[in-house]
Amino acid sequence: MPGASHGWRTVPPMASVLVVEDDQFVRSALIRQLTEASYTVRSVGTALEALREVAHFRFDVVVLDLGLPDLDGSEALKMLRGITDVPVIIATARDDEAEIVRLLHAGADDYLVKPFSVEHLTARMAAVLRRARAVSGDPAPTTELRVGGLAIDPLRRQAELDGVPLDLTRREFDLLAFLAGRPGVVVPRKELLAEVWQQAYGDDQTIDVHLSWLRRKLGETAARPRYLHTLRGVGVKLEPPREHQP
Ligand code: CA
Repeated sequence: MPGASHGWRTVPPMASVLVVEDDQFVRSALIRQLTEASYTVRSVGTALEALREVAHFRFDVVVLDLGLPDLDGSEALKMLRGITDVPVIIATARDDEAEIVRLLHAGADDYLVKPFSVEHLTARMAAVLRRARAVSGDPAPTTELRVGGLAIDPLRRQAELDGVPLDLTRREFDLLAFLAGRPGVVVPRKELLAEVWQQAYGDDQTIDVHLSWLRRKLGETAARPRYLHTLRGVGVKLEPPREHQP
């Protein structure tokens, strides 16, 4: 299985993906590469066909091109969300932050800006799938998490960066482990409060303060992030820094 040596992008067995893409060339390339990466792939070229697919089949993840011939991307996403809560990764040709933020709010789980490599796509898909499984109540991972130079052992509650042990408080560790369990996925603040602090609501400052302590221990700052990225008004994500990415 390609990429299997990289723990942070392990592909779950036989995950099924619906590729919604009208460009025949991009579509065949994705089908071939995702099949090689052990995904079960179906694909369609319009939003209406996509709606029919998700109404009839169960998918683990949908990759949705925003530039489809029949429906505007955000319209397509809204209609998909009306009938399914399957994780959706948006593929957009425009690196338009305002639009991406709007789509994340409208129910997209993640996004990729074209052109992207299949390694990047499968990494995002694996992350989205891990998160979906976590939400559905599967037990927390008991094996070591690795994201770039980070190694996190949830059982021993120990974390290392580039082989150097990190001295983390309980909350810092929980926050790091939670984010590292879904690398590349933007986690909304509300979800962090619920999952890490076990609070239904609370003060954003609580999260910001812990994030800034955690950043300091990881040797980074908000202005020069490496692992921890804050998306204003959206949430937080942890991903390997550029030098660790495929
Ligand atoms: Ca298109």
